[in-house]
Amino acid sequence: MGKTALFPGSFDPFTLGHKVVVDQALELFDRIVIAVGVNSEKKGLLTAENRVRLIEDLYRNNSRIEVKTYTELTGRFCRELGISIILRGLRNSVDFEYERNIAQVNQTMFPEVKTVLLFTPAKYVAISSSVIRELIRFGGDPTPLMPRNIDIKNYL
Ligand code: ADP
Repeated sequence: MGKTALFPGSFDPFTLGHKVVVDQALELFDRIVIAVGVNSEKKGLLTAENRVRLIEDLYRNNSRIEVKTYTELTGRFCRELGISIILRGLRNSVDFEYERNIAQVNQTMFPEVKTVLLFTPAKYVAISSSVIRELIRFGGDPTPLMPRNIDIKNYL
């Protein structure tokens, strides 16, 4: 069967930073489920369908990656899928404090699920979905912050 990790996030949109996390994780795990969290309260840039489509287009030829949406607690979703690893990326100490809080709550509620944090290489630290959303709002071109061959215009 091999080891599977769940990589949860909003992915609005999926960035080059997210891809670097996935690339590193592919060396550690056999399969990665990228889980797009759908929060009806949060009005994002991309619809959930388009966030999924972008990631599927990116990994179309990689059978080790699967994309799913979910609307519940991440730990519960892991449990339903029989996955015991939550994968998250770390850019800085702000991410660290945030991730530690979530990981500790998950540890209490879903003790069989472990959180694995991967550090971003320095050159990707400044990349975030929110920077891309801001760039687009003001007419900028986010292509350098996106995975190669992904044109955000196809998903807006
Ligand atoms: P969320 O809304 O759940 O924080 P995001 O889509 O913003 O979801 O991020 C998903 C995960 O990817 C988080 O663990 C976040 O820290 C990580 N991440 C985002 N950008 C980067 C980056 N440039 N380098 C490494 N990890 C990143």
